[in-house]
Amino acid sequence: MSTPKNPAPEKSAMFGTYARTPLTFERGEGVRLYSSEGEEYLDFNSGIGVNALGHSDKGIKKALLEQSEKLWHVSNIYTIPQAEKLAQKLVKATFADAVFFTNSGAEAVECAIKTARHYFFDLKQPEKFEIIAFTGSFHGRTLGTIAAGGNPAYVEGFGPTLPGFTHIAPGDLKAVENAIGEATCAILIEPVQGEGGLNAMDKNFMSGLRKLCDRHNLLLILDEVQCGYGRTGKFFAYEWSGIEPDIMAVAKGIGAGFPLGACLATEKVAASMVPGTHGSTYGGNPLACAVGNAVIDHILADGFLAHVEKTGQVLNRYMQQLMQKYPDLVLDVRGKGLMAGMKIKPPIRDFVDSLRSHKLLCVAAGDNVLRFLPPLIITEDDIGEAFKKISAALDDFQSKTH
Ligand SMILES: *Cc1c(COP(=O)(O)O)cnc(C)c1O
Repeated sequence: MSTPKNPAPEKSAMFGTYARTPLTFERGEGVRLYSSEGEEYLDFNSGIGVNALGHSDKGIKKALLEQSEKLWHVSNIYTIPQAEKLAQKLVKATFADAVFFTNSGAEAVECAIKTARHYFFDLKQPEKFEIIAFTGSFHGRTLGTIAAGGNPAYVEGFGPTLPGFTHIAPGDLKAVENAIGEATCAILIEPVQGEGGLNAMDKNFMSGLRKLCDRHNLLLILDEVQCGYGRTGKFFAYEWSGIEPDIMAVAKGIGAGFPLGACLATEKVAASMVPGTHGSTYGGNPLACAVGNAVIDHILADGFLAHVEKTGQVLNRYMQQLMQKYPDLVLDVRGKGLMAGMKIKPPIRDFVDSLRSHKLLCVAAGDNVLRFLPPLIITEDDIGEAFKKISAALDDFQSKTH
């Protein structure tokens, strides 16, 4: 008896938390993914900004294979040389003096929040625990980070929201200053809002926040989980604004597909996180950090960030041209480097589906924005190819509505 070609799909045994499409991928190569049916897709999503080096990169495969032959995991009660080495590299390349490794972005933000609160606790100011955050932001899905993000849709139905967060519309320094009170301990912001709609903060706003923090004795926490690790053409997006944070959450690109995250801090702030204050079973294990070391070496190698900056400009040019060609359908162009997006008229979910039928993978963001997060190794030709597909999908939409 032969097996039917398309057996009736079994009911999924997984939580229904994602509106999944039935499409499955079997393998990836560079900026392309191949479905189980053997169809080729151009990947402008990168697993939401994770696959920074594309798929199947030789260097990180080698690092993973070599480490997997030796040792996968030991407890953080032992010294882990792979983690020490990666932390040294991060410290050398950033504002930070110390690193805590996590498995995800939300955990990195959680660590940032705990570190800020504990810093003031240690200064005998436990009444300072409130964090000013921003509307349109996304910081993760744990109970702490949904409170930090403040998106009502993510908070509702999950019991009392963790207290200690105030949300202000980004861009308004006066409003931020007015929100500062006796209880305020920090300001938390994504330098480029990802999920919220690719809203890049301007330089003056970022330096204004730094000044407010200095003037009012607050800590500046950056969530660079999505916009960091080379995504905008600098190693971290804060470098564009000429300021430095006190604490920063990192993830997504740091493991380029292996679950890894990190919370970075200055020596002064990290000093309060002594034994017993925080921990993670897996965070920074040998396997994850072996990959992390290969990723950071690749991203900080000569010419890599310059390539991201240049291709980011090409992407921006294509978006601008498209907005000129379809002024009624492409309403705005946003973002920075290879973290970009276009606010469009077609309903975003439908349009992402339509692009998929043209074999281009993108993801939606808030405010009906089509989000582009291609692997950082993307070429100008790949971008040209993607925009042919986007034009075709816009033509489809136009012919359907006229
Ligand atoms: C993705 C993301 C997070 C959460 O990361 P997870 O790994 O999903 O926990 C937090 N902040 C920002 C800015 C993100 O883009």
